[in-house]
Amino acid sequence: MQKCLITKIVKDSILDGPGCRYVTFVKGCNLNCPWCHNPETKSSKQEVFTYSRFCIHCGNCVNALSADAQLEVTPVEIDNSNSEQYFNAVEACPTKTLEYASSEYSTDEIIDDMRKYSIMYSKTKGGLTISGGDPLFVADFSFELFTKAKAAGFHTAADTALSFKWDIVEKFLPVVDMWLIDLKHIDDNNLKTDLTIANLLKLANISGSKIWIRIPIVPGYNDNEAIWEAMATLLNDAGNAIEQVSLLPFHPFGTAKYEALRIDYPFSGVKHLDDSVIDNATEIFSKHLRPEILTKGRRILHG
Ligand code: SF4
Repeated sequence: MQKCLITKIVKDSILDGPGCRYVTFVKGCNLNCPWCHNPETKSSKQEVFTYSRFCIHCGNCVNALSADAQLEVTPVEIDNSNSEQYFNAVEACPTKTLEYASSEYSTDEIIDDMRKYSIMYSKTKGGLTISGGDPLFVADFSFELFTKAKAAGFHTAADTALSFKWDIVEKFLPVVDMWLIDLKHIDDNNLKTDLTIANLLKLANISGSKIWIRIPIVPGYNDNEAIWEAMATLLNDAGNAIEQVSLLPFHPFGTAKYEALRIDYPFSGVKHLDDSVIDNATEIFSKHLRPEILTKGRRILHG
């Protein structure tokens, strides 16, 4: 049975697909978006958060690593590139100053948990969404979980950047009812947008495909009219499989997580995107897309 590190489970999301959703955030992604507000989902390895304000300087963490260590260095400085060597310190911390960034779940554990709330998902026509990270990055786990969810009668949605070879995407077609696709740019080699776009167009051409597009509007990255025009034209060409397009303003809520992981945040100090930028983007997108599929201004709360 497949297992995976999961950073968070939300059991009543109304943001990640139709109806009420059970959303698992898997750990692991093949991209490295510098504005990402869930940095703990980038690496597929376990990591450790440090919340220094909770530290009572008991020294347990230091003693768990070395009997000779000095108490002055509390809380112990975690290096997440080599996090395994600090797990004893995490276990020894009584205040959760040191905390694992994820927990391991099997596919059966998740399906069993979903069954407890199944009436909520069936009444609202909701179901399971695998987000991350990227569900296709942990393909074996996600495929098994989607397969079991469908067998149990749950609607399934994959929240992905689709930046993978088509044969990986294609394998998921029988077990994914809806695709929530992050479109970040029209031409960015670093974030493999060529794959995103090619796969998006292939999916849109498959009869019965249901696609929601989510576009983060990020200051200094894709907040310009030429990119919006190109994206809107692409999505219009993709046709009626595109059921929703959401323009999501950048927010700095991930700042504290970067601090807790002890890594630099490239967008440190950058503020919420101004509403006027989203208004401008909406105007451009609405020239190309059916107005009923365009949504704007929703803060990215998770995912
Ligand atoms: S064990 Fe926890 S509370 Fe105690 S010194 Fe270390 S980090 Fe602080």
